[in-house]
Amino acid sequence: MRYISTRAQTEPRTFVQAIIEGLARDGGLFVPETLPDFSTQLEQLSSLSYKELALSIFQPFVGGEIKTEELESLIEKSYSTFRTEEVTPLSFVDRLGILELYHGPTLAFKDVALQFLGNLFELVLSRSDDHLTILGATSGDTGSAAIHGVRGKENIHIFMLHPKGRISPIQRKQMTTVLDDNVINIAIKGTFDDAQRMVKAIFNDLHFRDRYALGAVNSINWARVMAQIVYYFYAAFRYMDHYKADKVVFSVPTGNFGDIYAGYLAKKMGLPIDKLILATNENDILFRAINSGIYKISTVHSTLSPSMDIQIASNFERFVFDVCKKDGSAVKEKMDQLNDNHQFTLSAEEHAKAQESFIPVRVDTATTLSTMKRFYQKDVVLDPHTAVGVAAALACGFENSIALATAHPVKFGDAVQQATGHEPKLPESLQGILERPERCIEAENDQKAVQSIIETVL
Ligand SMILES: *Cc1c(COP(=O)(O)O)cnc(C)c1O
Repeated sequence: MRYISTRAQTEPRTFVQAIIEGLARDGGLFVPETLPDFSTQLEQLSSLSYKELALSIFQPFVGGEIKTEELESLIEKSYSTFRTEEVTPLSFVDRLGILELYHGPTLAFKDVALQFLGNLFELVLSRSDDHLTILGATSGDTGSAAIHGVRGKENIHIFMLHPKGRISPIQRKQMTTVLDDNVINIAIKGTFDDAQRMVKAIFNDLHFRDRYALGAVNSINWARVMAQIVYYFYAAFRYMDHYKADKVVFSVPTGNFGDIYAGYLAKKMGLPIDKLILATNENDILFRAINSGIYKISTVHSTLSPSMDIQIASNFERFVFDVCKKDGSAVKEKMDQLNDNHQFTLSAEEHAKAQESFIPVRVDTATTLSTMKRFYQKDVVLDPHTAVGVAAALACGFENSIALATAHPVKFGDAVQQATGHEPKLPESLQGILERPERCIEAENDQKAVQSIIETVL
């Protein structure tokens, strides 16, 4: 399979090249040149275990670049860290399916992609004996999923910056109690924005970037999208079997558009998905874009669902590429407009395609809280991100709906407390974490200080 850039200014890449490069050099995102069609194999796929299904889905995307046995063992290694054999089990509340994506090591859905990505990087780097230095800033969640994805891996170091004293104790401990030598946590005396700005500045120091082979694990990496396609198939099969349904609706709490884009691809690959509900919190750029055809940046609001508090949904560019009929220069034009004027407009035809593909629903804080409370009364504890998706599914009222549960409620204990009056219980894997020893370097809010830490370690 070849991978092309959404801006069409670079030569096509192989799977491995697209994974290692992450972002294309023309600023675009990699997409596969064609999509496999599974519509005639659904029955056979529906009897597979999660890991077997992952193998079948990954194979056409990987082509012959990774041998079947190697891919199989990557998948085995990546998903045996989950607390359930099913990896992403489906439960039911009345007739609503709840797709539990939070059974990985850090209790958030990002583990599904990052556990796999870490092992994939390790395999690919071992072939060339190259080294990769992952550098990132986190306000909590993505950082710990990335750290747990690459801990202990050969040829990889990860430097993760977080704002000192500004993340919850559990979030900090999930990162700083990882004591593997290749994991370096840095607490910055500043805010998350300071940390983020510093990471960008370091990436822009091209000499430094090349010298230490800096890379990122952000949500635009194709392997992350690919890994997320699997659970749409897995959940749809479980639901259709349980209720003898012939198609399903998914409701997806959305931030960067990576998760729901994987669902969009699953549908194009032949999975009978009737509708995709795109649920946002007050950060509603996608809700507005699909309603109006105008994608327009506004300011970020802090909400109860911080992992969806975004200004720009990076993966949306991949969808724009599709609605522009794979015309890379048209995409580039729109992205340049976004850069210059903070907005771009879809043509009438493009807008119609967006409306055909997604049902946008904006869920405010009051509704998020009341949904959490209602479910708590049914003995189901929802985290605030999941509650946004559940509320959107209920508002649409379709039969045969599945809401994606993207985080374990314990990760957002304050919001659960606010909604229900009760703190969620720590799961077994986290018990005692607050007492475990941690390792973390403190640094001044200064780019040079961070660079010198990297130089010293490597
Ligand atoms: C990242 C995240 C989301 C949003 O997913 P996107 O792929 O960015 O749209 C939703 N919920 C949780 C808990 C997350 O961590």
